[in-house]
Amino acid sequence: MGRKNQKLNIFFFPFLAYGHMIPALDMAKLFAARGVKTTIITTPLNAPFFSKTIQRTRFLAQEIHIETIEFPSKESGLFQGCENVDSVPSQELVIPFYEATATLREPLEQLLGEHLPTCLVADMFFPWTTDAAAKFGIPRIVFHGMSFLSLSAWESIRLYEPHNKVLSDSEPFLIPNLPSEIKLTRFQLPEFIRQNVNNSMTKLLKEAEESGVRSYGVVVNSFYELEPAFADHYKKVLGVKAWQIGPFSLSNKENKEKSQRGVETSIDEEECLNWLNSKKPNSVVYVSFGSIAKFSASQLVEIALGLEASGQQFIWVVRCGTKNGDGNEDWLPEGFEERMEGKGLVIRGWAPQLLILDHEAVGAFVTHCGWNSTLEGVCAGVPMVTWPVFADHFFNEKLLTQVLKVGVGVGVQKWVRWEGDSVKREAVAKAVKYVMEGGEEIKEMRKKARALGVMAKRAVEEGGSSYSDLSALIEELRALAS
Ligand code: UDP
Repeated sequence: MGRKNQKLNIFFFPFLAYGHMIPALDMAKLFAARGVKTTIITTPLNAPFFSKTIQRTRFLAQEIHIETIEFPSKESGLFQGCENVDSVPSQELVIPFYEATATLREPLEQLLGEHLPTCLVADMFFPWTTDAAAKFGIPRIVFHGMSFLSLSAWESIRLYEPHNKVLSDSEPFLIPNLPSEIKLTRFQLPEFIRQNVNNSMTKLLKEAEESGVRSYGVVVNSFYELEPAFADHYKKVLGVKAWQIGPFSLSNKENKEKSQRGVETSIDEEECLNWLNSKKPNSVVYVSFGSIAKFSASQLVEIALGLEASGQQFIWVVRCGTKNGDGNEDWLPEGFEERMEGKGLVIRGWAPQLLILDHEAVGAFVTHCGWNSTLEGVCAGVPMVTWPVFADHFFNEKLLTQVLKVGVGVGVQKWVRWEGDSVKREAVAKAVKYVMEGGEEIKEMRKKARALGVMAKRAVEEGGSSYSDLSALIEELRALAS
């Protein structure tokens, strides 16, 4: 296979946020495992994220290369060194950050001209890459990092504007022409859509839409058996040329790969495994809200007290709890960790999520429904408590709770971009207790979740649906290269 693919050289250009870089690296690994030469393009400060992971495996070091391009963050009104959404200090600077990434076009074009890769797989938030690649006759494939359901639902909302046909922000509307009945409220849409405003974000999404249509195709981090009706709808009804080649996270097989995915974890792998090893199967709930969502101190207090009231054992990841004047953490109820000793583990910062989810002690996942986390939960075969925050999370919640029936909602009503605060401790306790202890209904849910996990693994094995789709994509690109 390796020799046959010698001429193939695929460039990957992920958006500068962990939720995009993580799947892009896993995707590059998938191609590399098929003997394809792959190169990841990123900025200097993001390069170690990729290089640390790649260097660990000699095989990968031979197949995945890194090229860096300068990001003039300071000149773009951001502070020097702000090269990742993770380091954007305030909500006001998020949109300027997205805008500033357009300055990467010139150095990207230089790189494309020098190397003339077979194909450029670029993130949806870099719409200008379609034209940049076309200058050199290079096809661009789009990576959105979303499910087929979300891709189809956004398109339907764009085409039919069903949110403009209801009278209030809380009145549910049906998203037209989808294979399943999916209802949302305006509160669950981004503000700029809800309020029909035109800003840089709407402009960017419009450009993403237009450039998507002119691109060579779309790669989707999903597998056919997970959402067959939506995969068919996207490809056959909406007519998008797409390959589903996921779940990408399954390219991480060893514990080291699962725990070290580029970002330094805040807990030692050994310590985490020892803690989990001391627990019975399915006796721990894992609670995490991804890499971007931030909660206010009062919401964190509600989560803490809700977890305590649920009576369940847990691992809870808190990305950024603040300290008050006297150095204490104002988001932790007094004596919480002492009371929870041995029962609950709080990880401040970054958790080895895949390692935790795949451990047999974990019996459920409270998730913000980011697409990577959603898929990782599916692969782990555990039922989920859904706590959508923004972006495509509300669609992923519908997939889990209504379509697949492997999740229960905690009851979030509104999209919040940053500093979310909406769910009370009673709701947290109720949902967690239910998903961990619930009767027949949960047994059924657990069975379904387990079956999906098995299907996911089958999809990426030789002969599986994603494996075959990746073969088809590689064949097609090889034909282009010859
Ligand atoms: N993640 C992790 N440890 C953390 C938080 C997040 O490993 O403490 C990983 C998680 O496994 C997933 C990604 O970061 O692969 C988050 O992506 P997702 O789409 O779920 O959410 P986002 O961060 O984009 O909101």
